[in-house]
Amino acid sequence: MEIVDVLIDNQLASWNVANENYKALKNVRVKEVKVGNLLYKVQFNPARILSSAAKVDKVSLQTRKCFLCAENRPAEQEGILFEGHYEILINPYPIFSRHLTIPEKEHTPQRIITRFGDMLDLSDYLQGFTLFYNGPKCGASAPDHAHFQAGNSGFMPIESEWVNYRKKIIGKEVGALWHVDAIPCPFLVIEASSKVDAEYLFNLYYQSLELKDAGEEPMMNVLAMKNRESWTVLLFPRKKHRPDCYYSQGEENLLISPASVDMGGVFITPLEKDFNKIQASDIENILQEVCLSADELHEVEEKIINKYGRANN
Ligand SMILES: [Zn+2]
Repeated sequence: MEIVDVLIDNQLASWNVANENYKALKNVRVKEVKVGNLLYKVQFNPARILSSAAKVDKVSLQTRKCFLCAENRPAEQEGILFEGHYEILINPYPIFSRHLTIPEKEHTPQRIITRFGDMLDLSDYLQGFTLFYNGPKCGASAPDHAHFQAGNSGFMPIESEWVNYRKKIIGKEVGALWHVDAIPCPFLVIEASSKVDAEYLFNLYYQSLELKDAGEEPMMNVLAMKNRESWTVLLFPRKKHRPDCYYSQGEENLLISPASVDMGGVFITPLEKDFNKIQASDIENILQEVCLSADELHEVEEKIINKYGRANN
């Protein structure tokens, strides 16, 4: 995507804060940890404290200036208009060496169901990037302002590892739904070469999830990428926003607020003490707390298969 390359180059040349943060990212510390059957990276990234420690309760949101609204953004930040109502911006606090934030122009709540098609369009436009969606209680630091993010593909281990653990649930000529037997955090994947099929399978999935904690939508993280003719969409249903260790005092505390990138196999620790301390068992515990268990995911799959069977017989 040449126009995005130009945007990134221009922004790094003209915007000091972004330039410094992308430079710092090159020296960021990373360690690898084997958890269950997957390899996770842990990234010590101090600039992400803003996101990990973001207060997302109603009062805090109402009293802060929304950082995704155009009038509150840094003067240096420029964007590319997409489909007339999204703006593709560089994220000044990166996790990826190429990291975009893509807010809706209007200040309107974070919801996936009416925007999943847009997510597919964006991943088509931004080939070479993986799009991601953090639900309002699943890592979004601006749950009151609809947005996606995108990072260069190939950075999150799960993007390539999932095929090793997949089992087909629904298969059609142009679209398939897979169960991925990742331990301890199983998830689902849609593969489709048509947008209509991808949306159809996503809707079955969405309708098969429960609403938790009087939430506005079923809790989830979504990763989407397009490779030439075909979309791959990773679906991580969630049951909890932040793990207990996020709120613990003293030694037990780990300031980790899991979102799509963590689900994708890169755990972000904004604090050095957490980076040094975190082990496989911590990541395993956090994933077990916030993701569905294999049994819980199977229940969702049963519902999807029933709905699919009724619609296709
Ligand atoms: Zn806003």
